[in-house]
Amino acid sequence: DQMLQIRRQFCNPMTMKVTFYKRPVFIHQGHMQWLWDVDGRRYLDLFAGVATISVGHCHPRVTEAAVKQLKTLWHTTNIYVYPPIHEYCEKLASYLPDPLKVIYLTNSGSEANDLAMLMARLYTGNFDILTFGNSYHGSSTQTLGLTSNAAYKYPLPSGLGCSNTMCPDVYRGIWGGSHCRDSPVQTTRDCSCPQGCCLATDHYIGQLKQTLATSVPSRIAAFFAEPIQGVGGAVQYPKNYLKEAYKLVRERGGVCIADEVQTGFGRTGSDFWGFQGHDVIPDIVTMAKGIGNGFPMGAVVTTPEIAAAFAKGVHFNTFGGNPVACSVASAVLDTITLEGTQQNSLKVGTYLMTEMEKLRDVYEIIGDVRGKGLQIGVEMVKDKSSRDPLPAEAVGEILEDVKDMGVLIGKGGLYGQTFRLKPPMCITMEDADYFLAVFNKALSNYMERK
Ligand code: PMP
Repeated sequence: DQMLQIRRQFCNPMTMKVTFYKRPVFIHQGHMQWLWDVDGRRYLDLFAGVATISVGHCHPRVTEAAVKQLKTLWHTTNIYVYPPIHEYCEKLASYLPDPLKVIYLTNSGSEANDLAMLMARLYTGNFDILTFGNSYHGSSTQTLGLTSNAAYKYPLPSGLGCSNTMCPDVYRGIWGGSHCRDSPVQTTRDCSCPQGCCLATDHYIGQLKQTLATSVPSRIAAFFAEPIQGVGGAVQYPKNYLKEAYKLVRERGGVCIADEVQTGFGRTGSDFWGFQGHDVIPDIVTMAKGIGNGFPMGAVVTTPEIAAAFAKGVHFNTFGGNPVACSVASAVLDTITLEGTQQNSLKVGTYLMTEMEKLRDVYEIIGDVRGKGLQIGVEMVKDKSSRDPLPAEAVGEILEDVKDMGVLIGKGGLYGQTFRLKPPMCITMEDADYFLAVFNKALSNYMERK
């Protein structure tokens, strides 16, 4: 009876709107990389609430920090001074390179990106913003303008805001997107693409120059980029592309913003921040998701110079920097350092990629395996020669089969054709093997049915 009640409660059509599954999963409990449904079935979670559970569901250290703070002080706003916010900001700043030292706390990634846009415009005095095709930057009215994927747009009559197509002042960048048929670069790892990454970099930089010259004539406020596109399907840039792009944007007076909402906090394995893999230092960094291991939180970090231009008005955010959020986020940073989370991300991620590449060579329907650390995309195609995306129904069947065998993975990409692996970063090599066996079985089941 109790189960039935829980099911009824969960079957509210609003909460069910974004499920991947025909037979939904009713999640009841979580611990580290594991989730349990209301019937007690256990799942290996390789999607982490969309790359959000950074150190593990209900991680003991993080939970303890939350409980301790819940018993001490829930909320004040930043009208008052309270230790957790200061302790946290100091700690977070120590993970960022100079001159990125001024921190504003928000409740989500969308809010962080909204704030970053505002800062960039106030600092530069310019309005235009350059972003990429296939990007995702949020669900607020402003950030929907930045987000390119049409699936997230609402059919508003033109002139009524940003969510219809794009804000008149937001220019889509030139990056090809995740549909590998359209992209001359399938993978940028180790320069193994047929054309060579250097050629691809020149190609895309040429396009960027053209966009800047024609669409954003000398008055750019900001250039937004995810160091690896997340929702877009783990799409990476050719070698040196971001470095060159930053140079061009800065020459035109714009600031460069790294959206680290998915790539931050050690997820890419080799680096703590995704931008470090591109050998750049952004002017503004936005973050959320993994920052709070599931606790709603976000942040914008910038330079004292940009912060000074922004400080002309009063910035207020009722819940931003909430004491419980700060205590949780502080315990997340401690955990990443104490448990070698970033190193584990590199080790397990590299292993997963290597093994998935072997599967790519076996299955005609795996078009590409890409990513870095525990931010992995597996692009599904009808066949390797056409590179047409595998139809949504087929992707859904495989996803459902994987779930029925006890593993939860995500999907994304322009056509929903890319499986996404972004597990809690505490997963083990044994978990990776478990997933690989399940995925292999789901693919062979699909090929048999076909
Ligand atoms: N930026 C990126 C790169 C994201 O992936 C997301 C969420 N998927 C956001 C921003 C928006 O974050 P939120 O949902 O917390 O508003």
